[in-house]
Amino acid sequence: MIKLEFLVGIFLLVILPENIKAMSNSYWEPKQTDSVDHIRDLLSKMTLQEKAGQLNQYSNFSYTGPAEENQGEASIRSRHLRQGLIGAFLNVHGAENVRELQRIAVEESRLGIPLLFGFDVIHGYKSISPIPLAEAASWDLELIRTSASLAAKEATAAGINWTFAPMVDISRDPRWGRVMEGAGEDPFLASQIAQARVKGFQGDRLSDSHTLAACAKHFAGYGFVEGGREYNTSEFSNHTLFNTVLPPFKAAVDVGVMTIMSGFHLLNGIPVSANSFLQKEILKQKWEFDGFIVSDWATVRELMVHGYTGGEKSSAEKAFLAGLDMDMTSGLFLKHIPTLVEEGMIEEELLDEAVYRILKVKDDLGLFDDPYKYCKGEKKSPLSLAPKLQSKVLQLAERSAVLLKNRENILPLASSGLKVAVIGPLGNDKTSPLGNWRLAAKEDQATSLWEGLSQHQATNELTFSPGVRLLEKSPAFSQAAVINVSDTSGMADAVRAAEQADVVILAMGEHGMMSGEGRSRAHLNLPGLQSKLLNAIHEVNENIVLVLNTGRPLVLTDIESKVKAILLAWHLGDHHGQALANLIYGDATPSGKLPMTFPRALGQIPIYYNHYSTGRPSSANPRDVFHSHYSDEANEPLYPFGFGLSYTTFSYSDLEVKRILGEETKVQLTIKITNTGPRRGREVVQLYVKKHYAETVQPVRALKGFQSVLLDPEESGKLTFTLTSTELGYYNAQGNWKCDSSPFTFFIGSNSNAKLSETIQLDFSSSEILPNQHENH
Ligand code: BGC
Repeated sequence: MIKLEFLVGIFLLVILPENIKAMSNSYWEPKQTDSVDHIRDLLSKMTLQEKAGQLNQYSNFSYTGPAEENQGEASIRSRHLRQGLIGAFLNVHGAENVRELQRIAVEESRLGIPLLFGFDVIHGYKSISPIPLAEAASWDLELIRTSASLAAKEATAAGINWTFAPMVDISRDPRWGRVMEGAGEDPFLASQIAQARVKGFQGDRLSDSHTLAACAKHFAGYGFVEGGREYNTSEFSNHTLFNTVLPPFKAAVDVGVMTIMSGFHLLNGIPVSANSFLQKEILKQKWEFDGFIVSDWATVRELMVHGYTGGEKSSAEKAFLAGLDMDMTSGLFLKHIPTLVEEGMIEEELLDEAVYRILKVKDDLGLFDDPYKYCKGEKKSPLSLAPKLQSKVLQLAERSAVLLKNRENILPLASSGLKVAVIGPLGNDKTSPLGNWRLAAKEDQATSLWEGLSQHQATNELTFSPGVRLLEKSPAFSQAAVINVSDTSGMADAVRAAEQADVVILAMGEHGMMSGEGRSRAHLNLPGLQSKLLNAIHEVNENIVLVLNTGRPLVLTDIESKVKAILLAWHLGDHHGQALANLIYGDATPSGKLPMTFPRALGQIPIYYNHYSTGRPSSANPRDVFHSHYSDEANEPLYPFGFGLSYTTFSYSDLEVKRILGEETKVQLTIKITNTGPRRGREVVQLYVKKHYAETVQPVRALKGFQSVLLDPEESGKLTFTLTSTELGYYNAQGNWKCDSSPFTFFIGSNSNAKLSETIQLDFSSSEILPNQHENH
C-alpha cells in the first residue's frame, strides 16, 4: 500500500543528529564471548531507561490504528533512537531506509544495540503469493513452506528481519475479514500449516541472511470475535481454548517460532495483552516459550478503553506483569516502566528477563555480528533472486483454487472453436488478485484473469466486458472497503456479449481489499450489482462458469443453481490470471479443498464441521420439532470443510484399521484409492476421527491426517496413516492432555462428509486395543 509518511519520518530522523558519538564498546561489534554471556554483559551495562527502550516499538508511519499521537512526533522518535530508547521499528522497509535507522542505533546510541525491523510480510513481500486462506486450500505443506521462504528472501533483502506472520487464528466466522489471513477453521490443518510457514520464514538457521523471525498471532482466540466484527470482544470456553484455539500456537512454538503477538480481544474478561494466564502460565511456563511477546498495535494503551485499567501507568504495569515483553506503538512501557521499577512495583529482574528475551532474538538473527546484514541484497530484482521459487508460487496458485461445482463437466474448456465472453468487474483487475496485506507490492502487478486467458495458447474467440463496477476506485489500505456503485450502464453490453457467446466466464466476488483487517461484513452475498448482472446473463446464456474471487466463504445459495461451474479463485496473487487460465483449459487439474465451510445461510454462522453432537442431533422425521435444527434452513452447509472437485474422479476402498503392538497405542490405517475418471489428477485424502465418549464431549469427527496422491486414469495407490495418542487424545477442561478408552470411528475420504469408516475400541490405560469390532459402512 501507499506509504508516504515513512519517507518524511526517515528524513526527520536523519536531519536531527545529536552529539552522541559511537561508543567503542558498541554492541554490534563482533562479540568475543558466547551469546548468553554477551547478552548478560550487555544487560549489566544498561540503564533502566535503556532496558525499557528495548521493550519499545515504534512505527515509522501509521495506518492500522489510532495510536499515531502516542508514538510521539518524528523528532521524538529521532531523539529516542539516538538515546537507545527504541528496540524495534515496524513499517520501515527498503534496504537504504533500514540501513540509515540501524546506523543511527548502532553508531550513535550509547550502547549501539541493533534494532529489529518488523513488517507484515503476510503472503509475500514484493512478489505476492495467494492469500493465506487460499494457500491453506492447497493442503500442500511443502509449497506453503516454499512460499514463506520466498517472502523471507525478498523481505530480508529489503532490510526486514521480523515478519508479523503467520496469523494462526482459527475462525468459524466468515464475516470476520481476517479469515483471509489464516488457515481456516480446523486446528489440525492449521497447526500443520503454522509449522510450514514458521519453517519457511525462519529456515534452518535464523542467522542466515535470507531468513527472518516469525510471529504467531494473535494470542489467542482473536478468530472468535463476536459477530465476526473486527476489534470486537470475544467469548469462548476453556474447552475451545485448549482444543481449538491454542493448538496452532503450540505447533508454532514447537518448531521454534521466535515471537508471539497478542491481540485486541478478551479472554475471560481480561484483554489478552494483560492476560497472565495466557502469556505467563500457558505460553512462558507451560510451553517454555523462550522468545518474546509483542503487543498488537497500541493494545497496551487500549487497556484503558476496554475498561481494564484506569490510566497509562497501570496499563503498562498490568500488561508487563502479565508477561507482555514488547509494546507496539503505545510508548507506555518506555514512559512508565523505569518509574515502576524505581517504585518497586516491578522487579528489575523481571525487566531484565523481558529485555533478555528481545536481545536473544536479535542475537539469534546475527544482528550483533552484523547489524547491516539485511541491508545488502536489494540490488537484485526479487525474481532473479528465486526464479525456481516463482514457478512454485504459480504451482501453489493452481493448487489453491477449489472447484466447487462442475455440472456437465463444462470445465475444462476446449481450447479452440469456442466464443468465450469474459464478464465481470474483476475480470481484468490487476490489483484485486493481490488480496489484502501486500504492502510492498506494486498496485497492479498481478496478471488478471483476462490477461491469463488472452495469453494462453488456446485459440478461442475472447471478448471482455466488465458489466458493472465493484468500487468507485481502487481502495487504499485505510479506506472503507465496500463502496456501493449504482451505475448499470455497462450491463447491456455484458448481456449482449453473453448472448453471442458459447460460454460465459464470470469473474465476480469480493475485491481483494474487501477482506482483511477492518473488513468485517454483515452480508456475505456478492457485493454491489453483481447478482443482478449474473441473473441478467443467466436469462440469455446458461453456460456460465463462475470464477469466484473472495477472501472468505460467501453465501452462494441463491446463485449456485444459476451457474454450471464454480471455480473458487480466492485472490491468487501475482499469477492469478495465469493459474486460472491453466485450470480453465485443463493444463492444470483442480485439487484444492476448502479449509473453511461455505454456509447455506448467514444465520448458520458460526458453522464448522467439527461441532459436537448435541443431545438432540438432526432427526429424520420432518415433523419432529424438538431437535437441534432451523425451521427454515438445513443444518448442513452448502459446501463442507475439505470439499473440492477434480476433473477426474476417485474411488476409495479396502479400508483396514489395525492396532500396532508396542509400548504406545498406535493405530494404522490403510486405504486404496483409484483414479476412476478420464484424467490425471491429485487427490487430498483426508482422515477424520470420532471418539465416541470422553471426559469432555468430542467433535462428531475431527481431521487427524491427510495425504496427497497424484494418479493417472485407472491407477490405484495405497496410503498408510499411523495415529498415536497425539492424534487420539484431547485436552480436558483444565488443559491437561487426556487419552481415555472409547470406541473410535475412523472416516476416510475426499472431504469432511467422508462415509467410508471403521470403528474399533481403543484402550489407553493398558496401551492395548481390544479385538477389532469391524463395522464397515
Ligand atoms: C494487526 C496486526 C499487525 C499490526 C502491525 C495490527 O493492526 O492486528 O496483525 O501485525 O497491525 O501492522
